[in-house]
This record gives sequence, C-alpha cells and structure tokens, in this order.
Amino acid sequence: MAGRVGKEKDPLNWPAPKTAPARTSRRIGIHTSIAAGVENAAERAYRLGCNTFQIFSSSPRQWQPYTLGRGQCETMNALRQKYNLKPLVIHSNYLINLAGSNGPFLKKSVAAFRGELERGLALCADYLVLHPGSFRGASREEGLATVARSIAEASEGLDLLAAGLTVLIENTSGAEFSLGSTFEQVAELLDLLRGVVPVGACIDTCHTHVAGYDIVSSEGRELTLAHLDRTVGLKNVRVWHCNDAKAERGSRLDRHEHIGRGRLGLDVFRALLNDRRMKKGAFIAETPIDEPGDDLRNVDALKGLVEKGAHS
Ligand SMILES: [Zn+2]
Ligand SMILES: [Zn+2]
Repeated sequence: MAGRVGKEKDPLNWPAPKTAPARTSRRIGIHTSIAAGVENAAERAYRLGCNTFQIFSSSPRQWQPYTLGRGQCETMNALRQKYNLKPLVIHSNYLINLAGSNGPFLKKSVAAFRGELERGLALCADYLVLHPGSFRGASREEGLATVARSIAEASEGLDLLAAGLTVLIENTSGAEFSLGSTFEQVAELLDLLRGVVPVGACIDTCHTHVAGYDIVSSEGRELTLAHLDRTVGLKNVRVWHCNDAKAERGSRLDRHEHIGRGRLGLDVFRALLNDRRMKKGAFIAETPIDEPGDDLRNVDALKGLVEKGAHS
C-alpha cells in the first residue's frame, strides 16, 4: 500500500501532459525530488507545470555525496532547455554549518559546501541556497565572520561569476544560535561576501513569519517589505520560498503548510507574486506532500494568483 501511494506521488509515473503547462509571466516552481537520478527532477518539474524548480544535488541529510555523471548533467541541461526551466535552484545540505566554532566539524562543512558548489557548476545551476548556520560556542558576530571565511575557503579557485552561479543566503526561523533570522543579519552576511562570491538572498515566507515579521496584514507586509528593501535590498532577493506556515507569528517554529491553508493565507502570496518590485524573482514552494498531487496543487495555487496584465 505504501508503495502504491509512493508511485502515485511521483510525477514521473503520471501520464505525460498532452499540452504544455499553462504559461505564467512569473517564474513559479517547487522543490522537486531527485529520486532515481538528479536529471529526473527536470521532467518532474515540467509535469508539475513549473517553469523553475529547486533540488538537492545530493542527499540532504548525509555527508556522502552522490556521484554526478556527465551524462546526467547533459540530460538535465537538455531537459531544462526543452521545457524552458529557469532558474535552477539548488538547496544545500542541511548538515552543513559554516558558522561553527568546532574545528573538525567546520572543516567537514567547508568540504561539503565545496562539493555543493562543484555540483552546482556541473549542473549549470543559477543559485545555491544556504542556511547561514549556527554560531553556538561563539558570538553572533564571530559566527557571521566565520561563515564569510568558510565560503571564501570553499570557493577557492572556482569561478562562480563566469559560470553564473550565485550563492543565496536564506533567512531562517530564529531557532536558538541560528544566524539569519533578521534581515539585518542576512544583509550583513551579503556585505561580508561581496567580492568573495556572487551573492544574493532567498527569503522564505514561513521563516519570515515565524521569526516575527508581519507579512499577513497588508499594512504590516508593506512595512516588512520596506524593511527588507532597506537592509537586504529587494533587488537582491532572487528567490522567494513560498511556504504557508502552520505556526503563529514569532513562534520560531519552522513548519511548512500548503499554500493558502496556514497562518499566512492566499493574500500574502497574491501580494508577493503581483508586486512589480519582485518580478524578476523565482517563487518556489517547499510545501509538504501529504497526499498524492499536493505538489501539483500547490504549484497551481501559486500560478492561479498571478493577475493577468498586472505586469510584464
Ligand atoms: Zn532552506
Ligand atoms: Zn526555505
């Protein structure tokens, strides 16, 4: 039974769409499974009606990376071209902590992050999303400096700029010792990294909400976006992680919910998707799959919010 459900869940097992997915003037996608090979994610994303997508380039909770064959990268590229899937966003491994003060663990993290960068380059990815990490055992300032140093070390000798790969610092939900739960901290890290690697930000709607920012009331949302613009700069937000939230504002509990079914509601996503200031961003859901088809429904929910003629 479990196997059957798993099969139904996988868009690779769905009949191929007879027509191309509905077009939208925004880049909308979802975090997509790389099961049975990273290149399969492109086919899945297409079948889910995406024009952009996010993947892990290896197992997100294991240190040992998958080997990435040249053929896989070529297939991925060809499918992305065929289906007009861009940008390709990679989310880095959750175990990596580039802010830590533990020498051996930091060394392991730097090596793993270099692997992320190398796979990002091999896959011709546009963005590599990173959680700034935990500064436990040191001060917040030391933590931020350590992240910047670690990224410099991990990227030594790699030409990200020429390849068009940008590292995106994601804002976080505010768990104890974690960096990046305020826009100021994300901005500070971007400042430290300019000149080291191409950098930008990824703003997660669920993290923003549970970290305490008001994005639900229209007044609060305007203030929050103005604050984000003053600190990080809206033009530097290349990816929006579109996740509704199970938990209340300020709770610091990072529990993603289906679009429109949590504490945020559809209006939040409608406002972001139709805001001209964000028209160059990619909007990517990282919503749960509780039932087969939830991924398709969440992508459709986001696409359905884009107002025609509101922007081009
Ligand atoms: Zn993340
Ligand atoms: Zn996220």
